[in-house]
This record gives sequence, C-alpha cells and structure tokens, in this order.
Amino acid sequence: MSLDVAALRRSFPIFSRQPPPFHYLDNAATGQICAAAAEALTAYETAGRANVKRGVYRLADRATSAFAEARARIARYLGAAGPEEVILTSGTTFGLNLAAHVLEERVRAGDTILISRLEHHSNIVPWQMLAKRRGARLRALDVTADGRLDLAGLDAGIDRRTRIVALTHCSNVTGAVTDLAPIAARAREVGAVLVVDGAQRVPHGPLEVTTLGCDLYALSGHKMFGATGAGALWVRGELLAELPPFLGGGEMITRVTIEETAYAPPPHRFEAGTPPIGPALAMGAAAAWLAELDWRAIAAHEKTLTARLLEGLDRLPGVRIHGPRDLEARYGVVAFEVEGVHAHDVCQILDGFGVCTRGGHHCAQPLMEAFGTVATVRASLAPYNEEADIDALLEGLERVIRILR
Ligand code: PLP
Repeated sequence: MSLDVAALRRSFPIFSRQPPPFHYLDNAATGQICAAAAEALTAYETAGRANVKRGVYRLADRATSAFAEARARIARYLGAAGPEEVILTSGTTFGLNLAAHVLEERVRAGDTILISRLEHHSNIVPWQMLAKRRGARLRALDVTADGRLDLAGLDAGIDRRTRIVALTHCSNVTGAVTDLAPIAARAREVGAVLVVDGAQRVPHGPLEVTTLGCDLYALSGHKMFGATGAGALWVRGELLAELPPFLGGGEMITRVTIEETAYAPPPHRFEAGTPPIGPALAMGAAAAWLAELDWRAIAAHEKTLTARLLEGLDRLPGVRIHGPRDLEARYGVVAFEVEGVHAHDVCQILDGFGVCTRGGHHCAQPLMEAFGTVATVRASLAPYNEEADIDALLEGLERVIRILR
C-alpha cells in the first residue's frame, strides 16, 4: 500500500494553519507536532495539571499515571526491555551531557574516548569536557568523501584504553546512517561503553534498541513530532543499575539526612526535580501514534522523495551535494552548496517561495571543516512531505542560480 500523505498531513495541525505556500523542509531541526502530541500537551496543561510523583489527591495521581504511561510508550517505541530503562530528559543534548557525567568514573587519565567528525556538537562538546576533566584523550573517526562514517579507522580508533565510544546513528547533515554492528562488536571486545546519538534516527520509525549493541541511546521528543522540551536517554538495564546519580534534588532519593542521601532506583535516580511533564506526555503520545503508522510505506515514500531531491539537485548547475547517494544507507537529510552563494542567502530566497530550509554549519563544524566549507544548505524530510515540497525547493534554487550565481 502506498502512503496516504494527505491523510497523514491532516494529523499535523500546522498544515491547516499556515497560509500557502508552505513547504516545511527543516525537519532535522525540529519536526512539526502531531495532533496526538498537541492534544496531550494541551489536555495536561489546561485540564490535568499537577506535579507528578508527589500529591495524593486524584488530579496529582492521574498526572503521575500519565507520566508513567508516557515513559512506557517511549520505552515501547524504542524497544527497551522495560520503562525503567528510560530516563526522561529535556532532549538529546541533556541526555548526552547526563551520559558524560554518569560515565565519568569509568574514565581515567590516559584513557581514550572515541567520537567522529560526523557528530553534532552535542555529541562532541560533552565528551571533550569529560576528557579534560579526567585527563583522557579524545579521538575522532574520519568521514568518507560522501559524508559517511569511515569505518576503516575503527580497529585503530578503538583499543584497550578506549572507555567510551559515542557516535551518531544518523547524521544531521548528510543523512548517512551508521552501521552500528561492527562498532558495537569492536567496543564490546575492549569493554568500552557505546553511546548512540539517536536524535535523527527516531523520526524514522520504531527501534529495537536492545539489539543494536549499544549501551546508551539519546533522543529528543521534538524531532519525533512531540513538543519541544522533552527527550529520553535509554540505558541498558545492567549498566543503568551501576551508574551514579547526576543532578541532586527532589524525587531522586529515598532518604535524605543532613549528612547522607540514599538514592532512588533508576530511572528516578537520574530525574531530579520537576520534570518537563507536559512535553513528556506529548512525547509519549507521539511515540504511541508513530508506532501505529505503516513504516514500510513511509520508508518507500521518503526514499522516493529523497531520490527526487537528489536527482533534481544534480540537474542544477553549480550545486554540490554532501552525502551518500545510496538510498539504503541514508535518510532524507540532504546538505548541499550552491557555488558562489552563501547558504543563508539561498535560504532567504527559498523562504520567498514558502520553502523552509536551514543554512549554516548545523552544529557540525568539524564536519564542515572536513568538507572544506563553513556552511551548507540543508533540506530535511519527514513523512508528511510531498513531491510539491521538493519541486518548490528546486524551483526556488533555479531562481537563486539565475540571480545570484
Ligand atoms: N544530535 C543530533 C544528531 C541532532 O541533530 C541534534 C539537533 O539537531 C542534537 C543532537 C541536539 O538535539 P536537541 O537540540 O534536541 O537537544
């Protein structure tokens, strides 16, 4: 069955509220909120608001149950062994920083942490800070000319001093998908922990996170059609049980005296203070809604659109694409440059056509450096995109080339 895109678009309030032309191609920055998530957020904030895990009155009890159900829905979407493996966070950035703190004691002076040049700054800076705190060395795998992780450096990059390997599952610039299996195998050989940045993978369908071979997996709700402000960090149960707390405060304890604290079991030990309740409920609702979609049809649809975009860009003079051509090895995140024209100028002209794209370094400056540039344009697709979005982008680019190049 092919995807009924019109029906899918009706599940996203924005498409009936933005005046045409409206071609939203900045999904890697944030996806649009689906109706299920928007309703969950509004219902909580306007009709069900109470703090969670605290009150005994019915409103608070209902909010606590809804929060627990959101965690369970996210756990099911990820394929976690259970909801207790899912720490609710404010997003991928928070999750990766949390990871870098709770793994700190495993890293000693002279150890190494392996990342790559493909990473978003969220998966670079926390590890750099950790390496500095511990006197460890940060190494980075290279990228291939077509913007994929270069696994040729894997054996040399991971050795017996490697304590942590932190890599993206899908690049937010080139759309390249990382083949995690050989990395997980090599990390396991040396006893390193594998952290995966899943921010760009999760909008593309449910996961079986326990079979990926990784130990931690970070994600953001707003990139999977939830609200901004919520995310999750999945941690393999046996590892999670061993990890020390990160932030101290309310709700992460079982008992506090002036001298000592006994910590709550995971995941609560890692969730100090009032969590982002409404956004977490929205993320749970989005996860449950996404889980019911026909992902085979969506994958085919996204591939068709990605091919249309890549072929269209190829036909334009002076346009250079950064990223793999093999549709099996990538999602529809497409970075490109128009020779002689700054990415921001391209995006501004495209905006005149109602086309929303992103121009800049995409929080991936080491990758820009590898590409020998400082900025690219990026068009990133979601299941609700349609051929008209691609065609509007290509038409806008023809104008850019006519007037600026
Ligand atoms: N990692 C990747 C690959 C991303 O694309 C992003 C955001 O664009 C992040 C991490 C950071 O996500 P957030 O800003 O939701 O914390």
